Amino acid sequence: MHSSTVENYLKTIWGLQQRSPDSPLVPIGRVAEKLSVTPGTATTMMNQLLKQELVDYIPRKGVSLNVAGRKAALQVLRRHRLVESFLVEIMKLDWAEVHEEAEVLEHVISERLLTRMDQMLGHPTHDPHGAPIPTSEGEVPSQSTQTLAECSPGDYTLTRVRENRPDFLQWLAQLGLKPGTFLRLIARDSFADTLTLMVAEGPDQVQISLSAAKSLLVVPA
Ligand SMILES: [Zn+2]
Repeated sequence: MHSSTVENYLKTIWGLQQRSPDSPLVPIGRVAEKLSVTPGTATTMMNQLLKQELVDYIPRKGVSLNVAGRKAALQVLRRHRLVESFLVEIMKLDWAEVHEEAEVLEHVISERLLTRMDQMLGHPTHDPHGAPIPTSEGEVPSQSTQTLAECSPGDYTLTRVRENRPDFLQWLAQLGLKPGTFLRLIARDSFADTLTLMVAEGPDQVQISLSAAKSLLVVPA
């Protein structure tokens, strides 16, 4: 296993690459911003990752994971997402409070323990937030990247919540919005920047902001 700092960089670079699949290199400034460190600190780290042969790094241009870096990043993500699933499904913690725990445990869980957790969970493909769990072979189930913010009125299934703030997740759960939930987008108000929805389990219409809708991935139902 790599140090937790290295693992966090790899995970972050992977996430940023996913967000802009068309640009081969992630600017160091974005990595630094995401990890709340100075660009200087991130640059120093890039040289370490380069030495450990985990990235391709071109100064002033950006960074991308090489095969070994990608593999290591996906192992961290697998641990993170399986831990979250375990905490919710087996230990019955609330889905809003497991991310921070997983941020710590993802760096220390042994392969043996992870395999056992995966078995107990019945080899889940997605975590409690709907994020795909990479397989032990490093394959990631593909997922639609369409957000509710981009959708026209119609019927959708919520597939993933791409936000970790506990208060935000609690608010969503109160509205009945969790992965797997059916929802009907009734109207978009582009002046107020709001969407009006009907959620399968809730009797009433609810309004959510456009910025909240950007965190919700959906597929047509
Ligand atoms: Zn998480």
